[in-house]
Amino acid sequence: MLQVVLIIVSFLAGGCGNFRQHYREWPAVIAGIEGFTEAQTSELMGSIRELNRNAGKIVVTEEPGTMGYPIFFRLVEPKGPSERRVGHAVFDEFKCEIDLSSIAFKSDRKGLAKSVLWHEIGHCAGLEHESESTELMYFTSFPFTFYSEGALDRFVGALNRSIIQMTSQ
Ligand SMILES: [Zn+2]
Repeated sequence: MLQVVLIIVSFLAGGCGNFRQHYREWPAVIAGIEGFTEAQTSELMGSIRELNRNAGKIVVTEEPGTMGYPIFFRLVEPKGPSERRVGHAVFDEFKCEIDLSSIAFKSDRKGLAKSVLWHEIGHCAGLEHESESTELMYFTSFPFTFYSEGALDRFVGALNRSIIQMTSQ
């Protein structure tokens, strides 16, 4: 049996569809990083910087004290019915909490953590799932090299549009 089904589930806190009416000020600010090793933290930060570079602007800032939408990152161990879930985002108008599973950082899945991180930040910014498995916002994630330049461009474009829409409300 193929063991590559890495399920990502996310919930819209407060019910589907109404969260856009709330005001969320971007860029997002890293408000907490919990449970990661030093190596994982540096991989995480590298992935965030790369996202900022691709977006052509700061989407998530490391600068403490910056005003913005707080994002919390937490490392979780796989367990129970959600053991194959590699990432999870819970958000409302005040904050976004991202859980990344230690599975995403396994050496045989190089680049998976980056895919999952970008995907979950997409959720924090209001993006929903895409129906094509080749897209970064598909509900399962693959190692980063799986995604075409076009797919990454589409993701970053959607992310930027959503942030602009959200911030202008
Ligand atoms: Zn998702």
